[in-house]
Amino acid sequence: MSSVDVLEHYKDIIKKYIPNFDSVEFEGPEIAVYSKRREEVVANGDALKNLAKEIRKRIVIRAHPSIRSPSEEAMAFIQREVPQEAEISKITFDSNLGEVIIAAKKPGLVIGKGGFTLKTIREKTLWRPNVVRTPPIESKTVDSVRELIKKEKELQKKYLLAIGHRIHRPMLYKNTEVRLTTLGGFREVGRTCLLLQTKESNVMIDCGVNLGSSENEFPRFDVPEFNLDKLDAVIVTHAHMDHCGFVPYLYKWGYHGPVFMTQPTRNLATMLQLDYVDIADKEGKDPIYTKKDIKREILSAIPLEYNEVTDIAPDVKLTFHNSGHILGSAMAHLHIGDGNYNIVYTGDFKFQRTKLLEPASYKFPRLETIVIESTYGGPHDVMQSRHESERHLVNLIIDVINRKGKILIPVLAVGRAQEIMIVLEEMLGKRIPDIPVFIDGMISEATAIHTTHPEYLSEELREKIFHQGHNPFLCESFHQVDSQNARDDIIEGDPCIIMATSGMLQGGPSVQYLERLADNPKNCLLFVSYQVEGTLGRRVQKGWKDYTAVDDKGKRHMVRLNLQVETIEGFSGHSSRSQIMGYLRKLRPKPDRVITCHGEATKCVNLASTIHQRVKCETKAPKNLETMFLN
Ligand SMILES: [Zn+2]
Ligand SMILES: [Zn+2]
Repeated sequence: MSSVDVLEHYKDIIKKYIPNFDSVEFEGPEIAVYSKRREEVVANGDALKNLAKEIRKRIVIRAHPSIRSPSEEAMAFIQREVPQEAEISKITFDSNLGEVIIAAKKPGLVIGKGGFTLKTIREKTLWRPNVVRTPPIESKTVDSVRELIKKEKELQKKYLLAIGHRIHRPMLYKNTEVRLTTLGGFREVGRTCLLLQTKESNVMIDCGVNLGSSENEFPRFDVPEFNLDKLDAVIVTHAHMDHCGFVPYLYKWGYHGPVFMTQPTRNLATMLQLDYVDIADKEGKDPIYTKKDIKREILSAIPLEYNEVTDIAPDVKLTFHNSGHILGSAMAHLHIGDGNYNIVYTGDFKFQRTKLLEPASYKFPRLETIVIESTYGGPHDVMQSRHESERHLVNLIIDVINRKGKILIPVLAVGRAQEIMIVLEEMLGKRIPDIPVFIDGMISEATAIHTTHPEYLSEELREKIFHQGHNPFLCESFHQVDSQNARDDIIEGDPCIIMATSGMLQGGPSVQYLERLADNPKNCLLFVSYQVEGTLGRRVQKGWKDYTAVDDKGKRHMVRLNLQVETIEGFSGHSSRSQIMGYLRKLRPKPDRVITCHGEATKCVNLASTIHQRVKCETKAPKNLETMFLN
């Protein structure tokens, strides 16, 4: 049986529920049924539910393009039907999916009482309405991703069709065996990459780069287990370069398959990857991949929401769960074979509510092995509580302002920057004087992407922004820095707080500020996020008193570090050791095996042995390049 025969087999079943359908197509992991009959498209609730149950696949019914209203007509109808107070800002049509996306300031008014308005739009125009909230801050990245998908819709359709045929190919073997090969990010932080193999499929989870090391920068593809041509799917858990930075490289070398990630991860990862290529360009280095490869990744991306079960290979189903680390970050639950084996890979996770996000999920339908991060898994990794961290931050800022200094906070553009912005916004003019906060680097663009996906933010923050009309990101004391002159003025000017990328002082404006603020003991350099071994940030944090900098003309000079250097780890997006242990105690169901990763060697090993003693299950702290049988 080929995948075409599989499709024929599905058609026979579909006929029972939707007798007059026009065509059936694979669209990535979904099966799309097209019908030219209005009544089949609009009144199919129960039929569709029963059909999905019988087929056990994600299924969607679409109106054949010939019966949908022309887009101008549909647009006029929507504008007439939706009350003015909803403040529609944009209506866009996705003819591939037969979807109309309505962006409005008050989405509730577009939906109508009990969904009445939406239902009317669907019935009259035969387009599927999808209502989104107008983002309070526009993002250039999101706009260009959407433009690209619109422009290349034929190409994307072709990719989705091929992906669908591959996912739904018939299986050869009955019994599955599951093997895990560690290609990067084990007993180290950076270049995370896992390869999961069954008799049928090959799935890669995360594919990152290590920005702190030039020797161990990329995952190890030189193992016999890895074969690019046989790769079925790539899963990306979140948009940090140590998890997503190497994905375009796969496309450059001929990968044709899908990459599964949440929508915020797709948008944030695109922003970071484009920046990575730009920086390499500016530094005169040969980039490892180009914008063309990033575009290919965008067109092959299949966005998934949390808790949505999806076939990604003939014998592998993927479900994302919130991991509480950054916007859109996910834990990956993989269900292999027919209920045979279940794995959770936590990615980076935070088991505590933060200002930005809800804490990580800890309940799964089934679970045998969990692969867990160990960034702060060492016995000495005692993190200050949120409360203590905030008090520490307040005292520090007041001290530095009183002595007329400046505070430089290097931050990752995604995650910590937004968390610290909310913390500062709450303090300014209350617990600390209302001084200016300068924001330099890609932080503002990342913040705009955050407001594009409000459904992924914490309930408290959503309530604040959308119901109380108070958006902390738009605080009047925050100033975006966009020129070298502005930077000079800040450095020469009055006491202030500077938040700048990169977060580990590996290039970017944070390094420029440090060079010029370093000499003055009144100033303070404050670390709020994890510093990877090998980065300048890590060296300064460890207590180095000077380092060699290179200026634009390639001239070297010594930078003396006379400024105060402080670290507050309590704002971290990673779980502390006690949060990791708390997570494993709460985790349901209890796993048979725990594998540690994403931590320095001693921490991965120590955490594994502590878990073995306290949680009483098999544990392992593999190195890179190990292959394990899981079942
Ligand atoms: Zn991360
Ligand atoms: Zn990470």
